[in-house]
Amino acid sequence: MKKCGVCKIATLLAGIGALNWGLVALFNFNLVTAILGDMTMPAKIVYALVGLSGIGLIVSVIKACPACNK
Ligand SMILES: [Zn+2]
Repeated sequence: MKKCGVCKIATLLAGIGALNWGLVALFNFNLVTAILGDMTMPAKIVYALVGLSGIGLIVSVIKACPACNK
């Protein structure tokens, strides 16, 4: 099944978020914080986008994305 552009971006962002959590747990290293600073506006935007992507992915798992099902 091919994924649409929106789903690809959401998967990528959620993947980055998941990797970042893994880095924090395993190496006590926060990649987002390292690049963008601790809770600065850009860092918050990244976290917000990751969160929204997570919601999008959960929704697309439960109820398949209409763009992907064409
Ligand atoms: Zn899709």
